[in-house]
Amino acid sequence: QVDITNVRKSFGATEVLKGVTLSVPPGGVAVIVGPSGSGKSTLLRTINHLEKVDGGYITIDGELVGYEVRGNKLHELREKDILKQRTNIGMVFQSFNLFPHLTALENVIEAPIVAQKRSKTEARKRGLELLDRVGLKDRADAYPRQLSGGQQQRVAIARALALDPKILLFDEPTSALDPELVNEVLDVIRELATSGTTLIVVTHEMGFARDVADTVVFMDDGLIVESGKPQDIFANPREERTRSFFSKVI
Ligand code: ATP
Ligand code: MG
Repeated sequence: QVDITNVRKSFGATEVLKGVTLSVPPGGVAVIVGPSGSGKSTLLRTINHLEKVDGGYITIDGELVGYEVRGNKLHELREKDILKQRTNIGMVFQSFNLFPHLTALENVIEAPIVAQKRSKTEARKRGLELLDRVGLKDRADAYPRQLSGGQQQRVAIARALALDPKILLFDEPTSALDPELVNEVLDVIRELATSGTTLIVVTHEMGFARDVADTVVFMDDGLIVESGKPQDIFANPREERTRSFFSKVI
């Protein structure tokens, strides 16, 4: 369960998030769409405290993200506790960000061994299961440069799953891929969606949003303009801004 409450964020004088409120229930899939610069990536980054909020707060299963309450005030957590919290939140970026000098399997098992102190044997076994889940068991020993973009992104997804996160965040996971590789990555995310992982996905893939989202969230200019079930929001947007955006992208 993710609860984002009235979150505000500015960079200098520019307010990029102007009071965003959004809840995603356990196992829910929220797909965020909206024009460039509307604040989608910034919002995702606040969820794992890669960006500090200037106002409002975020909780995951009731636990405040990035802060603790002491004497009626919010105090930022220590770095160590922030890192610990982040193990609950997997994130997959547009640019796969794999470690180039590690194989696919080594990429997947790095965090469980380092952050969770799991044994190498146990981590390898689980890592191979995860690579199997994303269809890459036979490429476990390949280095990122030996893999296609779609394969690299699937390794990145397996890596994000390796810490058993409570929630997975995707920021335009297919935007850097050649068109023919988009579906192999979307299919993996589809499978995660049906298996009960809580997902928040920023994407321009409207077909994916229609098929997979429980809720489609339309952001513009730092605010959620409207959100709803895909069939409702695509067929009957309430707001003119939503209508105008969809008319350009669908
Ligand atoms: P896109 O679809 O292009 O990825 P977005 O909706 O993800 O856009 P953000 O990346 O969240 O938009 O950016 C929102 C606004 O915040 C933009 O105007 C951007 O220039 C600004 N911004 C984002 N990060 C920073 C930063 N670190 N410093 C200053 N401004 C920033
Ligand atoms: Mg972005």
